[in-house]
Amino acid sequence: MRRPPLSNDFSWSKSRHEKFSECLRAYYLYYYRSWGGWEPDAAKDVRELYVLKKLANRFTWAGSVVHETLKDVLLDWRAGRAVDPAAVEARARKLMQDDFRHSRGKAYWTQKYRKQFTGLVEHEYAEPVTDETWKQNFETVRSALSWFFASRWPRISQALKPAQWLEVDAGYDFAHFSLDGLKVFAIPDFAYVDDDGAPVVVDWKTGKYRDGYEEQVLGYALYVAQRYRFPVEKVRASLVYLNEGVEKDVTVDPAALDSFREHFATSVASMRALLKDPATNTPKDAEAFVPTEDLNACARCVFRRPCGREAAVARARAEVA
Ligand code: SF4
Repeated sequence: MRRPPLSNDFSWSKSRHEKFSECLRAYYLYYYRSWGGWEPDAAKDVRELYVLKKLANRFTWAGSVVHETLKDVLLDWRAGRAVDPAAVEARARKLMQDDFRHSRGKAYWTQKYRKQFTGLVEHEYAEPVTDETWKQNFETVRSALSWFFASRWPRISQALKPAQWLEVDAGYDFAHFSLDGLKVFAIPDFAYVDDDGAPVVVDWKTGKYRDGYEEQVLGYALYVAQRYRFPVEKVRASLVYLNEGVEKDVTVDPAALDSFREHFATSVASMRALLKDPATNTPKDAEAFVPTEDLNACARCVFRRPCGREAAVARARAEVA
């Protein structure tokens, strides 16, 4: 029996906002034009956009391997299973080797692989990346895991009683809440109740500190408060920079939450202004989504070929080299 088609409902997330802010055309291709590209009878250009939008880059890939690995580790501890850090690191290395091979052969165009990874933009566009840089990418993963195992987090998580665990990277189907009647996706990496009865949300970071992360965890705080019925001011939020070995607590107070809601409302209004029909989330024509002039953004973009910027990016790279 053929299942009913999925509908492309409007929702909000921090990553959607970032895409919207970086390039409207990329936002359009990602959230609208590629929709349905998974269907066997999808049009060729839609299918191409869909495959491209799933590609990671080496930085997001390293980050997602760390996140997936820590998720497995935490779930093992939650279930009372022992974890061997050396075996965890070896598994991560093997996973990355397999991913790399799959991506280098561009098998993502023809084969299903694993949900969290399809391929790398560097391979798709034959970017000049040295072996040393790829090795360094694995080193980012290794050092993040190594810092984690030596940090206070193993002790904290292993000491939690069953009732104190809230969730571990629960995924899009589960981790969302409603704000001003809109579905907002906010997936904390780890959420638990501490010994004082306060809910704690934790976000692992593999990159360097940058602005905007605080706002992301405020979204997690709102989510946890709504889902588990805590007063939101009670939530504690932590950003953990695994590669820098730095932890940063984020204040969840009325002023911070007001600022979050204000940004959210402005962001949603800007996105809706580009809809022909907000009720059905139907976008205006492609021309309304103006491509960015910033070639640096294009140099990171998975859509540079269908967007017509592939040659310009290659030229700019050649001039720098
Ligand atoms: S290639 Fe550049 S202009 Fe085109 S969608 Fe990507 S970021 Fe936007």
